[in-house]
Amino acid sequence: MSSAFSVDVVIVGAGLGGLAAAIAIARAGHRVTIVERAPELGEVGAGIQVPPNSSRILDRWGILPKLRINSMQPEYLAIRSYRDGSILSLQNLTPLMEEVYGSPYLHVHRATFHTALCDEATRLGVKFRLGLAVIGVDFERPAVKVQGHEDIAADFILGADGLKSACREALLGRPDPPHASGDMAYRIIVSTDTMKKHKELVDFATIPSFNHWAGPGGHAVGYLIDHGDLFNMVIVVDDELPDDVYSTKGDLNKMHERFKDWNPKFRHLLRMVKEASLWKLQNSIEMESWRHPNGSFALLGDACHATLPYLAQGAAQAVEDGAVLGALFEKAENKAEIYDALGIYEELRKPRTTRVSRESTAYRAITHMDDGEKQRERDRQMTNYKPFEGY
Ligand code: FAD
Repeated sequence: MSSAFSVDVVIVGAGLGGLAAAIAIARAGHRVTIVERAPELGEVGAGIQVPPNSSRILDRWGILPKLRINSMQPEYLAIRSYRDGSILSLQNLTPLMEEVYGSPYLHVHRATFHTALCDEATRLGVKFRLGLAVIGVDFERPAVKVQGHEDIAADFILGADGLKSACREALLGRPDPPHASGDMAYRIIVSTDTMKKHKELVDFATIPSFNHWAGPGGHAVGYLIDHGDLFNMVIVVDDELPDDVYSTKGDLNKMHERFKDWNPKFRHLLRMVKEASLWKLQNSIEMESWRHPNGSFALLGDACHATLPYLAQGAAQAVEDGAVLGALFEKAENKAEIYDALGIYEELRKPRTTRVSRESTAYRAITHMDDGEKQRERDRQMTNYKPFEGY
């Protein structure tokens, strides 16, 4: 249902977070323009996990059927020992997630997710202004300042420009580069046709599942996407990249050397890898506030709560941000109520995203544990862990 009055909203950034907010706010009857630095819309070529807290919102927006077309629904989560590949913990995901949370856990290609959001935003009349880099915010007007271009004014401005956010720096009034977490990740996609030729890897290539290997000094996850044609992997290890390198081509020889003590099946899987990209994993230091005191500006997504990806919740939290903003914009009957709404948005969202960020960081200590008694105790506890009845 649309609100009776409408305002102009500029959202900086057409990532998953900016698009989610655009859809939610346009659904509430407001006029939305997205200002995006990239000359074309798109996402990184990799997979993404869409947990039920996100898929439920996408369902409400009518986007879930599109995502389901070529996504995979994992049957279970298997946490494996790095040493011998044995399963430490097996948890049901399908149908349990739908039974418990009313919505599925999905594995999707990022491009599919991004395109589905772009299509819906376009259908709702959201305008895209591409190839424009925002370099600051005039909070009083309010307007975004754009490199080599005139300012773009609106009633409200939302900064969804990701980890290295010009909007966050404008709000803080100082440089605020992302924080190096000490980890880096290999992002890998392997064709399952290749994997299926190796008897030992057929189960990974054919059974929709969420595989997690816990090792000392790192962990790996792997799952099928794109009708099962591709196996997506994220492998996290200690960061060895120079301070100023955020992503680069991964050196496969170094990667094999790094995992030489891991179990033979995992190493066999790594031998299927033709290329890998390498990303410094960064997160943000908790901000005091996400919004400007004059009430017409707020941040969302990675721009204000970038988290380590270990609970697969970064984009899911950005989608939740969008949904909450949309619900509040819908209820407002005048501009003053939207000023208040941004305060309510922050009160509702900040404690939750802070908890998710802290728990993602804490999960690192569990899944990267060094060999020894503590790790053996972890494995014993995982083996005995019975999260849900009936599996
Ligand atoms: P971004 O995706 O960074 O989008 C920001 C947008 O703003 C971009 O389009 C950018 O071009 C634009 N922009 C930037 N600066 C400017 C500017 N100055 N002017 C104009 N435009 C600008 N999350 C999950 O939910 N599930 C997962 O399984 C998962 N796995 C992950 C695995 C890895 C290895 C990593 C690194 C992250 C993972 N995440 C996952 C986290 C997720 O990718 C992010 O949280 C999410 O993409 C953030 O979306 P965003 O829109 O806030 O920011």
